[in-house]
Amino acid sequence: MNTQKAIDGEIFLNTLKILKDLIKFPTVSGKPNLELINYCENLLKNSGAVSFKTFNNTKTQANLFATLEGIGPKNEGIVLSGHTDVVPAVASEWTSDPYIARDEDDKIYGRGTCDMKGFIACVLAAAPLFASKKLKSSIHFSFTFDEETGCLGAPLVLADLKKRNLNFSTCIIGEPTNMKIITAHKGYNEYKTHFIGLSGHASNPENGNSAIEYAIEYSNKLMQLKNELKNKKRENNLFSPPYSTLQIGKITGGIGANVIADKCSLEWEVRPINKSDGDFVTKSIDEFSNNILLPKIRNNNPNGNIQKEIIGEVVGFNEEVDSDAVNLLGNLIGDNSKNTMSFGTEAGLFQNSGISTVICGPGSIDQAHTVDEYISYDQLKQCLKMLINLQKRIESI
Ligand SMILES: [Zn+2]
Repeated sequence: MNTQKAIDGEIFLNTLKILKDLIKFPTVSGKPNLELINYCENLLKNSGAVSFKTFNNTKTQANLFATLEGIGPKNEGIVLSGHTDVVPAVASEWTSDPYIARDEDDKIYGRGTCDMKGFIACVLAAAPLFASKKLKSSIHFSFTFDEETGCLGAPLVLADLKKRNLNFSTCIIGEPTNMKIITAHKGYNEYKTHFIGLSGHASNPENGNSAIEYAIEYSNKLMQLKNELKNKKRENNLFSPPYSTLQIGKITGGIGANVIADKCSLEWEVRPINKSDGDFVTKSIDEFSNNILLPKIRNNNPNGNIQKEIIGEVVGFNEEVDSDAVNLLGNLIGDNSKNTMSFGTEAGLFQNSGISTVICGPGSIDQAHTVDEYISYDQLKQCLKMLINLQKRIESI
């Protein structure tokens, strides 16, 4: 097969068609995604894949895991993995409807085009190609829900695979990396801390208990931890910046200067370069909160409270040097350069399950989560080239 001819032909047109269909499903994190999952499942079934689904508690969201069986040992398959959820879009800010794909200047615009329905469209379009030949090893498709809000779907798939005694050697996560190899990323922990004080007239502070003042003390402690993280000595660190970061992104509370605030909340995040830094922050801030602040906030008000809500804790992706996945991808794309990044993905979860994992997918992270998100034809074609090379590599002659 002539690879270039294939990329410019039916498989590319099919990718565009599938991508446009996928954009129509408004699969914002936390919202139902079953229609999209059924659409993907049907396409894969048409190529002869066997599949199963795992669901959230209310059965409104599902992960899909599908397999095109190869003739090799069962545990040597390659997983092509993507998340089906997208971040919200404010339609009025977009040039056109974010959920209707706009095809212009060799780019497809729409929510999720680059993060990461473009990759899903490519692998779905490539499925008939994989199915057309006997494969030495199986190809698996893993499409998850709620990655953007803390990787909630992927652990259910991995637990299910374990139950079914299914193991795989390699996983390719198609997050937008401009088709470059990513071999490590930081963890991502996001929290919202709620403070409940006691309201009252500002002229008599003793009768109230300001939730804002406790939020400030808590913030000061976080800033102290931030500096401690920054000053920890690091050897041979790959990341930029080369230390774990912490930041407070939002403070909400109070109604005016002359009223003691009864409520305040802080939204904050940690991007740890290793698990112990994340644990250090959790332990330190929880101890400070429970032992120092909580008794004070309850001093004149038994209903006073501090509650830390975990929005998401995404495990980091530890560096893979010369692993099966990294070497495979280097061969498929003809580029062995390795990079790191500072945003979270499902890679650490697959890695922790013993699967050699690499991140490489079409589109740029610069376009992800933005107004007028897009993916270029060129990036989709590069991804198709990688998949065609993979098919050639594992076809059984
Ligand atoms: Zn993503």
